[in-house]
Amino acid sequence: MPDVDIIIIGAGPAGMAAAATAANEGAKVLLLDEQPQAGGQIYRNVENNVGNSVDANAVDYLGKDYTAGNSLVQALEHSNITVKFGATVWRLDEGPRVVWSQNGISQVSLAKHVLLATGAQERPVPFPGWTLPGVMSAGASQILMKTSSLLPRDAVLAGSGPLLYLIAAQMIKAGAPPKALVETQTLKMLLGASRYFPRALLAAPTLFKGLSLLGKIKAAGVKRYTSASSFRAIAEDDGSITFSFDSKGRRNSLSTPLLLTHQGVVPSTHMSRASGISHEWNELQGAFQPITNEWGQTELQGFHVAGDGAGIGGAETAKAAGRLAAFDILYQLSHLSQNSRDQKSKIDRKAFNRALSIRPLLDALYAPLPEFLSPPDETIVCRCEEVTAAEVRQSLNLGAHGPRQVKTDIRAGMGPCQGRMCDLTVRGILVASGAKPSPARARSPIKPIKLGELANLKIPEDSL
Ligand SMILES: Cc1cc2nc3c(=O)[nH]c(=O)nc-3n(C[C@H](O)[C@H](O)[C@H](O)COP(=O)(O)OP(=O)(O)OC[C@H]3O[C@@H](n4cnc5c(N)ncnc54)[C@H](O)[C@@H]3O)c2cc1C
Repeated sequence: MPDVDIIIIGAGPAGMAAAATAANEGAKVLLLDEQPQAGGQIYRNVENNVGNSVDANAVDYLGKDYTAGNSLVQALEHSNITVKFGATVWRLDEGPRVVWSQNGISQVSLAKHVLLATGAQERPVPFPGWTLPGVMSAGASQILMKTSSLLPRDAVLAGSGPLLYLIAAQMIKAGAPPKALVETQTLKMLLGASRYFPRALLAAPTLFKGLSLLGKIKAAGVKRYTSASSFRAIAEDDGSITFSFDSKGRRNSLSTPLLLTHQGVVPSTHMSRASGISHEWNELQGAFQPITNEWGQTELQGFHVAGDGAGIGGAETAKAAGRLAAFDILYQLSHLSQNSRDQKSKIDRKAFNRALSIRPLLDALYAPLPEFLSPPDETIVCRCEEVTAAEVRQSLNLGAHGPRQVKTDIRAGMGPCQGRMCDLTVRGILVASGAKPSPARARSPIKPIKLGELANLKIPEDSL
């Protein structure tokens, strides 16, 4: 017997919007998230920050777009929604059957339907020195700002993408402006992206927000380098990082206590891949994404995917996608007729299309440089197993022709992160060698659990 109508995995904008929509139509929802609070990436810890329990200034520097997420969090207070935090889903099976771990105890929950809303992760930015202490991703630094009010001081921001500008503006507002902004996009990329500009005008307010971020960075006098490439980081004896890069024909060198890198975000697909859903390569976004229809329905009966985990679209797209998926699930569970599904979803369909219209422009303008897709030989590719790009290339020379062979040969992707940090780089090196690899296989448990937890797992008889 199913425990609930819908299990939603992920309490980001997509998952929260879907939960409230489904609950309002009378469906019983179980919402699981491995984080200690609702919010996902964009609204992480928003309820505590709005309540000023971390830092009274945080809501000020994190901005209105951040605090706006609190209404989604408050909407989870609904008698039809059960929320479990610190609840890590590590396996999904047909049925649907969801296996999750909380406080060291794993359990199985059954539902009529599952919605995966597991969001995005930052694209790895591998270059010589990226694993040194003092080098981290810009998104990780923003997580520290949101959860602990830890501000990066004298940091250099390097890479590309709208999130880099947002974080720079948040740092400026917080009184910890970046020492420099080193951007990889080139004039050629700008010209190439310009054909997507007319479509992006449908999301004009988002375009203006981006321009306003650039204005704030300029007004703060942050030194900017553009067309940057050939990143290198070296650790100095005093703990600082010397970061060198080419920009417009010159080699530059900056000393910083903290180098924050970013090259956009990619769908987090470990769970969808491990559950057997087919994926396709999105050329413009440079990432694999699950194959779904316009409602987020996958080829597996009973499984929808919504939000950035289905393809990068940003928070507004994720909210609309979460609601669209919820309406379709409600229809499939006979809570709504087809006609009322179509009627009720009209506003969200419009919002989804409008919010998504800016994406091709952003994807083309801020595409990752080839040197991060297939980095120089000395670069560590798999951080868990300390495998270098040279070792991956050697494995290919010895006959490996896909990610699985590389994994069994040299253990790239076999460590605790299960390839989250190296899948795309191994793929990039394979592609540079002329191969056309399919997505790397992901297997349960997709997140580490203890053997004792597995041994004590009780599987309901009627789910076998
Ligand atoms: C580090 C980072 C910072 C970002 N910051 C911003 C920002 O400030 N502003 C902005 O506009 N965009 C930001 N983004 C982009 C952001 O991903 C999206 O715009 C938006 O949050 C997507 O919403 P979502 O609901 O699809 O997924 P998310 O918001 O990513 O939510 C997914 C949720 O799923 C949960 N989850 C994942 N796997 C599991 C599992 N196995 N078990 C249980 N729970 C799981 C996660 O804990 C998370 O709460 C950021 C992205 C990243 C990677």
